Amino acid sequence: MNKAKNMLIGEMLLEEGIITKEQLKDALEEQKKSGEKIGQVLVKMRYISKEILWTFLGYQMGVPFINVEDMGEIKQDVLKSLPEQLMRNEKLIPVSRQGRVITVAMADPLNFLVVDDIKATTRSEIDTRLAPAEDIKKLIDKYFGFKNEETGAIARARVDELDDILAAPTGNRQQPREEQPQMKINRSPYGDAPAPRREEAPRMPSFSQPAYQPPQPSYTPPAASSYAPPPQQPSYTPPPQQSSYSAPSYEAPQQAASYSAPQPLSASMSGDTPVNSFLTSLISSAYDSNATDIHVEPFNDKCRIRRRIDGALYEVDSPPKTLYTGLLNKIKEMAQMNVNEKNAPQESKLKIRVAGREINMAVYTFPTIFGEKIVLRIVRSDSSILPLNTVGMDESVYDLFKKEIRLPYGLIIISGPTNSGKATTMYSTLADLNTPNVNIFTVDDTTSNYILPGLNQTKVSRKSYGQVLRYLADQDCDVVAVGDIPNKETAEGVFDMIASGHLVIANLRANDPYQALQNIINLGIEPYVVYSNTMAVITQRLIRRVCDRCRVSYEATPEILKMLGDSASRSMLHKGNGCAACAGTGYKGRTAVFEMLPITEKIKDLFTAGEPVKKIKEENKKSGMNFIKEDALLKVLQGLTTVDEYMKIS
Ligand SMILES: [Zn+2]
Repeated sequence: MNKAKNMLIGEMLLEEGIITKEQLKDALEEQKKSGEKIGQVLVKMRYISKEILWTFLGYQMGVPFINVEDMGEIKQDVLKSLPEQLMRNEKLIPVSRQGRVITVAMADPLNFLVVDDIKATTRSEIDTRLAPAEDIKKLIDKYFGFKNEETGAIARARVDELDDILAAPTGNRQQPREEQPQMKINRSPYGDAPAPRREEAPRMPSFSQPAYQPPQPSYTPPAASSYAPPPQQPSYTPPPQQSSYSAPSYEAPQQAASYSAPQPLSASMSGDTPVNSFLTSLISSAYDSNATDIHVEPFNDKCRIRRRIDGALYEVDSPPKTLYTGLLNKIKEMAQMNVNEKNAPQESKLKIRVAGREINMAVYTFPTIFGEKIVLRIVRSDSSILPLNTVGMDESVYDLFKKEIRLPYGLIIISGPTNSGKATTMYSTLADLNTPNVNIFTVDDTTSNYILPGLNQTKVSRKSYGQVLRYLADQDCDVVAVGDIPNKETAEGVFDMIASGHLVIANLRANDPYQALQNIINLGIEPYVVYSNTMAVITQRLIRRVCDRCRVSYEATPEILKMLGDSASRSMLHKGNGCAACAGTGYKGRTAVFEMLPITEKIKDLFTAGEPVKKIKEENKKSGMNFIKEDALLKVLQGLTTVDEYMKIS
């Protein structure tokens, strides 16, 4: 990409294969008529996305592009670090702060005089990012122009969509960690006129940061306690555990890594009115039991309270119905929501201090026929990447998988339905491969929370994956990870990368390995290409782990043994009786169950001969691989999970 500095943006896009000669010619014609910049014309003619244009402009300038349209709320203390007038005059806005470094989105990040000014004003290092002037203006207007709208934004959602919304990962909507190019600048943003800027500007110190770290919330969660298995009861003899099961548990994806409140709504709950004391104990006990959400729902005769733990909702003791209105108003008031608005959904954020610690929450209210339903989503800052040997792979799968991901080229697919933990496995895999001599790029969207130092992590919308892959083909990299293969362009990009000697690891939404392969074929890729380039496909599901504190063993009934099948000769099974540590659920944390399909020569031949899936499954079984249900059974027999959890795996 070093050649980029002398190229016009149109040539650059052409060279990278993002646009065709014909498209460039069309755009140049159009440009003659309209007089607009060539980049703008290309976007207007829908030959490239705005995101792609600005990513390239960023590369060209040597300043990473930040998509401010697709970013979380900016914290008030960050906004206040610079005068509004300066922001408006210079078309810039501070977007985040980490330690002594403030990230500033600028329409003209090469204006070093201004950058020096900001440095002096804030006495901080400045990490500049490129963003379109109009987007910056919109942001400034949003934060400074409409002061009356600071309270919760209205969520345009119907009540019955609530669970869907809440089930979706909230994601880290912070700025992307862009590649930080090494080239000098001698073009204006649009590349068609030389910019009157210093060409040999010294690189700013903030660029030498090894990797972008998302801003962290200010509180320190008791994360360790929620991951380390609690001490086991002396009476319990643990089942034979393989090294790969020493796992902490999977993190629920909705526990976003980075939490940015629109304003630090710190509320304290002093005073011991019935409402305050109920709310204090509700929130702190939910926090301690690792709940992700608290639902407060009014009904005709009662107020139901449920907590979501490890993906499942559990009802807890209801308060008297008479307390409901007080609860609702108190929560709305603390979250600075409109207390008088009862007929429209509201959404806000809340930082609350209970029992000596700060708990961050997103707050949602939704009107129902009996009153407003309240959901408090607890936001934890932990999304640590698990070591690969702790994600739950059986030893045989783990050993083989570890070999496959070290192949010089080919496709490795990690598949599963939504919320199956496949992104966790992908980043654990990348962490395993992440050594200084391996160059890894990730192409993922903003819903992924994982940040791994040493990786080149690009965050773009799913529809741009293909375009980014085409760009990466020219880069010096060994391994590329893709968050999904959503369209033909991405699939083609993947196989082009493999053809040029790269290993590609892809997440794919599919229920089993066969469906995963078929999904790629359905995008319009030749089956033979798919079968000969794919090295292995794994598929996975999450299951809940038995709580170690209250675990008991019991003898399986003959009916259960029969259902579990021949391999269940051990008659002792395990379950949790429920205790304080697991909030009475009997479960604590999750792990994954896997099925792996290595595409051996034999299996490739069966596929290309058009043999039915059943036959291929048999062959895979013969070579020693378990079906996902068998892997789940193994974990039941090892005491890691229960028969109930096993039943849910299909
Ligand atoms: Zn327990």
